[in-house]
Parts: sequence; C-alpha cells; structure tokens
Amino acid sequence: MTASRTSSYIGRFAPTPSGYLHFGSLVAALASYLDARAVGGRWLLRMEDLDPPREEPGAQAAILKALECYGFEWDGQMVRQSDRHDAYAEVLNRLFQQGLAYACTCSRKQLEPYHGIYPGLCRNLGHAQNDAAIRLRVPELEYRFVDRVQGEYHQHLGREVGDFVIRRRDGLYAYQLAVVLDDAWQGITDIVRGADLLDSTPRQLYLQELLGLSQPRYLHVPLITQPDGHKLGKSYRSPPLAEDQAPPLLLRALRALGQKPPTELDGASVAQIMAWGIYHWDATLIPRTLSVPEAQLS
Ligand code: GLU
Ligand code: ZN
Repeated sequence: MTASRTSSYIGRFAPTPSGYLHFGSLVAALASYLDARAVGGRWLLRMEDLDPPREEPGAQAAILKALECYGFEWDGQMVRQSDRHDAYAEVLNRLFQQGLAYACTCSRKQLEPYHGIYPGLCRNLGHAQNDAAIRLRVPELEYRFVDRVQGEYHQHLGREVGDFVIRRRDGLYAYQLAVVLDDAWQGITDIVRGADLLDSTPRQLYLQELLGLSQPRYLHVPLITQPDGHKLGKSYRSPPLAEDQAPPLLLRALRALGQKPPTELDGASVAQIMAWGIYHWDATLIPRTLSVPEAQLS
C-alpha cells in the first residue's frame, strides 16, 4: 500500500475516552478514514485523554478494539495527549509571558450571568498562574473559513466566545490548545470530524494564526439528529458499537454519509465494504444535515 502513497494528505481520528464509540463516532471516523485513503493519504490515531477524571475506565482499550473490528488501519503509533504535556506547557508559558494569555480566578458563580461568553474580568489584573485558569485573549475580530461540507462559517471571537480557557484551574490543559498543537505537530492537512466542533474551529484558527501554524482544510460531517432535528440526547444515543455488527453498521454509516453502496454488499465482509468505500468515496455527496429515524439507532 505504501508504494502507491504519493499523496501529501494526512488525516486523523481523535477520540476522547470519556465514553465508547457509538454510531455517530463511526460516521465521523469513517468519513475521515475514507477521505484519507481515497487519495492514498495517511491516517493517524490520537487518543485525546486530557481529562482523567472524566475518562471511562476501559474506554481506551474498547475504542481501539472497536476500530480494529470495524476495519480501520492507522499509520504508525497511536499518540496519547497525556504524553504531550511538556509541549502544551511550553506554549502555554510562552503565551503567558508574552501577555497573550492571563490567569483568571473567576468562580463559576461569578461567570453565570455572562452565559458562557467571558467578559474579560481578569484581563488586566495580573494574577499569578497558580490556582487559576489560564485564558487566551481573543481579538475583536470575525474568523471565517469555508468548510468542505458546511460551507462558509464565521464567528466573532470577541462577541461570541470571549477570552477562552487554555488551561483549567485544576491544571488540565484544554482541548482547544492541545488539538491545535497536536494537529500541527502531526502534520495534519485535513481535519474531518463531527459538526459539534464547528463552533470550536474559529478558536483553533486564531491559535494557529497566533502560533504561526498552517491551517488545515476542514470537513465537518453532519451530526445525527432526532427526526425533529434536535440533537441526540444521551437517552437517544445509540449504544456502543457492537463487535458482531460491523458490516451492517459500516453500510449504514456509508449511507448516512450519502455514499451509495450497492445492495450486493449486504452480507459482504468488513474488508470488502472498506475497499468499496475507499474506491467509491465521494465527499461531495455528504449531506449537510442528517436525520436518522429513532428506530434505526439501535
Ligand atoms: N476529541 C474530540 C472528540 O472526541 C475530537 C477532536 C477533533 O476531532 O478535533 O469530540
Ligand atoms: Zn476571571
């Protein structure tokens, strides 16, 4: 396979071990995998284990097992974010020293009236780093990008987000910082992930700009919603991916992504379905929104 790999495409799947993979994760993983393999690109796996208290025991092993059962083959060694703390600390300290980030001691209660948009209360107070969250100053600017499926997306960082946390008060690094550093470090050219992260992308674009990192292409796959268009709540969530259901669930995931596997593939093996998917992958068929009838979820 490596012989034909002339592509510079590098994609990745970056699960969080706070739970098991479910049908929605399969759709995102499959889109990212096929998009990479269809052009002979590389596909990397990164475990986003930044938050040990929220980690589900056994989830890391279960995620790897499920990916294997479902026919995903990643290149090289899996990277764990828990091994990357030194890299995060270095950048965080630099941002802090340059005054681009600052310490915030606001309590949750104090911030309640602001509905998640941080009003900059600690911006100029010069708090020390310890026992404080670290927030990144955002510019009063709109960040925009063109997503391959969702089209143009824009967000005004000052008005819609505010200075955001890059290290929590309990010392844990925030997803926004880690994801940007790791995608750059791993040379990711193409990010394919769930649309729940669409509104994180402008924060990531700002961090890339600030740190002089190149900007990957983005493709946000539609979230699976209830028939009435609402986001899937926990109770609606499909169960962890069953190991003995890989072929039919892969076919269902392909169809959810707008691909058209022929009915002859019903009853085919995981390897046959993946091979078909790689050969016939067409990202332009992915719908912007998706509704899966409740009955189909389990
Ligand atoms: N770890 C994130 C999640 O599981 C995905 C990160 C990303 O793809 O950027 O939701
Ligand atoms: Zn504060």
